[in-house]
Amino acid sequence: MFYNRISKFILILGIILSTSISGHSWGFFGHKVIQQLAIYGLPKDMQKFYHRNMTLLVETSVRPDERRSSDPNEAPRHFIDLEAFGEHPLENMPHAWDAAAAKYSVDTLQKYGLVPWQVIKLKERLTQAFYKKDKDSILFYSADLAHYLQDAHVPLHTSLNHDGHLTGQTGMHSLWESKLPEQNLSSYNLKHQKAQYFKSAEQEIWEVVRASHALVPQLLAIEKQVSQNFTEATKYTVTERNGRSRRSYSDAFASAYNQALGTMVQDRMRASAEKTASFWYTCWVDGGKPDLSQLLATPRTKAEDKQLKQEQKAWKKGTLQEKDLLLTKIRISLMDVVEWIGTTLG
Ligand SMILES: [Zn+2]
Repeated sequence: MFYNRISKFILILGIILSTSISGHSWGFFGHKVIQQLAIYGLPKDMQKFYHRNMTLLVETSVRPDERRSSDPNEAPRHFIDLEAFGEHPLENMPHAWDAAAAKYSVDTLQKYGLVPWQVIKLKERLTQAFYKKDKDSILFYSADLAHYLQDAHVPLHTSLNHDGHLTGQTGMHSLWESKLPEQNLSSYNLKHQKAQYFKSAEQEIWEVVRASHALVPQLLAIEKQVSQNFTEATKYTVTERNGRSRRSYSDAFASAYNQALGTMVQDRMRASAEKTASFWYTCWVDGGKPDLSQLLATPRTKAEDKQLKQEQKAWKKGTLQEKDLLLTKIRISLMDVVEWIGTTLG
């Protein structure tokens, strides 16, 4: 019996150690995966530079979220609560910052979110960085621009009801943007279109916001519908941490919900990657198409090119995860590990 338990323990530990432990919460996992996928959609002239710096770009894809704890002005840059702007907000909202600020006041915009304007601000900074051929700034602003743009693809980042808390569906935010991608990524088709040039970045980002917001009623309604097949006990998992109990959606509910949503999360992830590549590309074109190979400290090696080819092939076939070519793996927190071992050992 004891040996049985020990061998089970070793087996589990093996599984855990073979799974890299990484950040959390479009969730950290989502941002990092999208960042990597975006690189495969770039034209050759840009791709080799971005691929050389892929680890850095993937790691810093979540830097704006990390900044929230130290910068009180950071939070509103990640969302826009459209319902706060009255009836038909998308039709009535001026797209340009100055006009929107004149109509609603800067304070109101700061309260209800800045994400579309933040994207445009970063788009201009990245274009400048290309123009100056400043490698560090190119990487910095590529990562930041990508983050806010990816946030704008998450439906609940465009709603006052951002966690489902206004409709008795608290916990929806991390269910949709973290748990579902982590649980289902291997079944997603994430091959997206190649980067394209945007004549109007402003029009593009507002289209992203519109498409995200249009999905909010549907994702909330489907949650209610799926809930009919669950009881309170099967729908949620309650965990105790530091004397506090935390309620979140159960794995079984997340699976059923994902099934009912169809390809919604996959489609938003794919659109996110495609738009990230397109925004980077648009900035590069507007910044005078600098020769990025000159910004590499050493020329690319044959091995690097071979690796890129292999990754791109896997991306097209949808086997990046299966072939262990994703830089970011599913997160397992230390507490999950402890709980898991605890329940298994009984
Ligand atoms: Zn964010």
